[in-house]
Amino acid sequence: MSDPNCIFCKIAAKQIPSALLHEDNLVVAFKDIAPQVPVHVLIVPKVHVSGLDGLGEEHKDLVGHIALVGQKLARDLGVAESGYRMVVHCGPDAGQTVFHLHFHLLGGAPMGGKMV
Ligand code: AMP
Ligand code: ZN
Repeated sequence: MSDPNCIFCKIAAKQIPSALLHEDNLVVAFKDIAPQVPVHVLIVPKVHVSGLDGLGEEHKDLVGHIALVGQKLARDLGVAESGYRMVVHCGPDAGQTVFHLHFHLLGGAPMGGKMV
């Protein structure tokens, strides 16, 4: 369920502080410590999953829930109209650095037409 060496497990368990924006029974959402755009939030399941590649059938509802939490946060943070991205890095080529699944919610500035 939880990895004692995982920084996002520790944040979810409140053992490490974060700028928490949302919490429910399944996820926490907090401000990224090194924001890339004005609105940069991480949506993180409370259960330890290593990343997209660690998901199984049992996580289908969790992923749908994360999408809806992202939608709600985008509205609450005032970027639903201007636009936003939800991004997941999976593995070395994608630049994943924290191996606990997290969705980046990015907005508040134009991000251009290119994906990478
Ligand atoms: P990635 O694994 O590439 O999707 O990125 C991990 C993200 O976690 C980066 O954007 C980091 O800035 C962010 N991050 C790492 N440690 C913390 C922390 N303690 N609190 C908030 N964000 C963090
Ligand atoms: Zn973890």
